[in-house]
Amino acid sequence: MNDYLIEIKNLHKNFGKNEVLKGLDIQIKKGEVVVMIGPSGSGKSTFLRTMNLLESPTKGEVYFEGTNIADKSVDVFKHREKMGMVFQQFNLFPNMTVLDNLTLAPVKTGRLSKEEAEKKAHELLERVGMSDKAQAYPQSLSGGQQQRVAIARALAMTPDVMLFDEPTSALDPEMVGEVLNVMQELAKEGMTMVVVTHEMGFAKNVADRVLFMADGVIVEEGKPEQVFDHPQEARTQDFLAKVL
Ligand code: ADP
Ligand code: MG
Repeated sequence: MNDYLIEIKNLHKNFGKNEVLKGLDIQIKKGEVVVMIGPSGSGKSTFLRTMNLLESPTKGEVYFEGTNIADKSVDVFKHREKMGMVFQQFNLFPNMTVLDNLTLAPVKTGRLSKEEAEKKAHELLERVGMSDKAQAYPQSLSGGQQQRVAIARALAMTPDVMLFDEPTSALDPEMVGEVLNVMQELAKEGMTMVVVTHEMGFAKNVADRVLFMADGVIVEEGKPEQVFDHPQEARTQDFLAKVL
C-alpha cells in the first residue's frame, strides 16, 4: 500500500495499429485535483476511459485503492462504481426524470433503498442548484442544467474519484460558468478529481497539478503556475501559445 488513490504504471492502449497511449505513469493522491490538457486526438479521452476500464488496457497497471483493476480477475464493475464519470455529452437517460436518473444506479446495485436514494438525490440536486427540477425530463433542461444533473448523478454513487471529460465543451458559453462552479465546489470539499478540459482559467485556479499530454505521452507536468507560466518543453509552449 502507498499514499496514492490511483497509481497508473506503464499504461498502453492500442486501437489496432494505432498506438494511442504510449506508456503512462501517473499517480494521484486522495483529494488531489489533476487537470489534463493537450491537443485534440492526443489520447485524453482514451486515457480516462482506459483508467476506469471502459477500454481495456493493452498493457500496464491501474491501481485503484490498492487493487490493480486492469487485472482480468478483478471485478471491474465493483471498482468502477467508485469512479464517477462525467462526459462532454451529459449522457442522461432521456426517458427518465432527473430524480430517477439519480436514483437508478444506487438502487439497482443494491447500495441504497429507494427511499434512501431519493433522499440523497434531493440533497445532491440541492448541491448543484437543481432542486426545483427533480421531476423534469432531461430534454426540458438547458445544457448547463443537464451537465449539473450529470454531475449529481455521478455523485449519487458516492465515488472516491470523479473523472471529467471536457464537461463544458458542448455548452453554450453562458452556461460554462455554472458547471465550472459546481466542479470548483466539489474540489474545495476535497473530492479527488481528474479533469480533461480546455478551460485554462479553471485549470489555473483549481488544479493542484496540470498534465500536458501530446501524442499519447505526458510531455510535461507540474503546478499550474509552472506549466502555464514557465513551460519547459517546446510542445507545451506551442500548445499554450494557441490556446491562451
Ligand atoms: P482526445 O480525447 O485527446 O481528443 P482521443 O483519446 O479521443 O483523443 O483519441 C486519440 C486517438 O485514439 C485518436 O486517433 C482516435 O481516433 C483514437 N481512438 C479513440 N477511441 C477509439 C476507438 N474506440 N476505436 C478506435 N480508435 C479510437
Ligand atoms: Mg477527448
